[in-house]
Amino acid sequence: METSYEINDDVKREVLNATDLVALIGASTSLKKMGRSWKGLCPFHGEKTPSFYVHPEKGFYYCFGCGAKGDAITFVRETERLEFPEAVAYLARLSGVTLPVRRGGTRVDRSRETRGSEALAAAARFFRKSLETHASARELLARRKIGTEEVEAYGFGAAPDTWDGLKSELAASYHEEILIETGLLQKSPETGRVYDRFRNRLTIEIRDARGEVVGFGARALGDDSPKYLNSPESTHFVKGRLLYGLDRARDAIRKSESAVLVEGFFDRIALEKCGVEQGVASMGTSLTPFQCDLLARHATTVIVAYDGDAPGRAAARKAFSLLLERGVQVRNLTLTGEHDPDSFLAAEGPEALAAAIAGAESILDVLEGAVASAGESPELRTQQLNEAVAILKSTRDLVLRHEFLAGFAKRVGLPLALLDPTAGKKKPASRVEEGGRPELRALPEGEERVLSILMHEWPQSASLVERVPADLFVHPASRELLEAIKGLDPSTPALDFSFLESHLGEDAGQIVARLLLEEPENSGVTSGSTSGQTESNGSSKRGGAGLGRLHKPLLQLKIRNLEERGATLQREILLPGTAAEPGRFEALLREKQVLHAEIHRLKQELRQPTND
Ligand code: ZN
Repeated sequence: METSYEINDDVKREVLNATDLVALIGASTSLKKMGRSWKGLCPFHGEKTPSFYVHPEKGFYYCFGCGAKGDAITFVRETERLEFPEAVAYLARLSGVTLPVRRGGTRVDRSRETRGSEALAAAARFFRKSLETHASARELLARRKIGTEEVEAYGFGAAPDTWDGLKSELAASYHEEILIETGLLQKSPETGRVYDRFRNRLTIEIRDARGEVVGFGARALGDDSPKYLNSPESTHFVKGRLLYGLDRARDAIRKSESAVLVEGFFDRIALEKCGVEQGVASMGTSLTPFQCDLLARHATTVIVAYDGDAPGRAAARKAFSLLLERGVQVRNLTLTGEHDPDSFLAAEGPEALAAAIAGAESILDVLEGAVASAGESPELRTQQLNEAVAILKSTRDLVLRHEFLAGFAKRVGLPLALLDPTAGKKKPASRVEEGGRPELRALPEGEERVLSILMHEWPQSASLVERVPADLFVHPASRELLEAIKGLDPSTPALDFSFLESHLGEDAGQIVARLLLEEPENSGVTSGSTSGQTESNGSSKRGGAGLGRLHKPLLQLKIRNLEERGATLQREILLPGTAAEPGRFEALLREKQVLHAEIHRLKQELRQPTND
């Protein structure tokens, strides 16, 4: 029976609390800890210096470059292209939260996406279980020296030698249509019969970078053709957006800042067998720009270790350009005897494979070698030279690009001006570094300080926020934010980014994210009182530590407003008609005097040491 999930605010909160935001986003970009937040290259816009931050305690991310921001649900919606309930269901699956079910309900229908993901997970359990009794699948694993632990870790399984093993297992819980859509079943175009896609095969789970099963790879155990069969492309399984093994490789890549790129599952496993944990497979030879972007956000160096045959070498060349374009340092490993890492491991052993990876060649070595291997033929040499120059010219950093070309010219004994006639004349097409909206980078200074203090000192600031007059604020976004803070429930223990953001417009939402990330210069409560000001004021700690700091920025705002009023008065006084109206002229002068006295008084107050 089809059920639907009931997703309300409590459920949303539970799912957000259970979500490891750093792990979730860390699957899309490598994050490094910087104080309370984590920093990395933005997954939403191309950049070479990190301006993307994740704040796990407050549960949000923000990019200073493009302004992307949100909580875990927003992130999943943007990156997985899911609707709100699907995104919540996705996070619930990842974090193991069971969503409350409404039988026969219609409010939030569990849609195809969620049911498809659940069907894939159910199929994975079924294949794992079937492996226990599938003799030839177990035999193949034994021949490949893949032990129980690895079977478990990689998610090996077996599809039984029947037409409807999986079908009869899942038929009760899932619509046939969903099972066909996810590629678990297929329909014969002639007879219309529906049957298992994978039969009598060793299966392996294909998981995304967060570890969710999105499809299967399968190797024939009998004489069936093709020998290797993958899940078909679907909304779940998009080969060009996946790097196989990234879920297991993430930590190793982050630590070593490098990744090893291979073609297939077994190559990826071979790397791990020889102690190289940072391997990922592009699942086929044509690396897509999407996969390259993903790699570039995780690793600063990529060792391309494609097959040693001609198609493998051609694919490696293509990968070089795509990676250099993204500012990634490239090295290359071509194994001897046209081996791939898997067959090399079988033939030469793990130490030899580890040594080969450690000795991967630099890009200049590879390209110089290719020219040398072209022999004496001027045509072949020219072809290799031109191809090499084209690859090197895709390097993003202008200085490095010049160094590469100059180094290459020297190695092949040709003048640089001949190899690259455009050198120094034209800029290469650089990828767009989007800027955010500069006017949102800084609010009027006093307004920004007040808002920052109110947010950072929450919940102590809750009692004070009502006393901050909204008309002191001139920037529309900061006014909006102040009103939203005033509207927060004072008993809320922590400032809730999700709540604030969902009640704010785009501009004010960006300001919240930015201010929460920028710790104020002397945050009294949170960083354990480092300023002389709060220390000398020990008595105020209980009653509202750090809030004394609100006094001066508020004074500044008042002064600013009075000075603006003063300027308006002055303009009126100088208007040609004003002097002709004696009563009015004097009234304006008197108001100006009062104003000046008040400004003077406030400025003196501003100069006094704080005592509140
Ligand atoms: Zn960005």
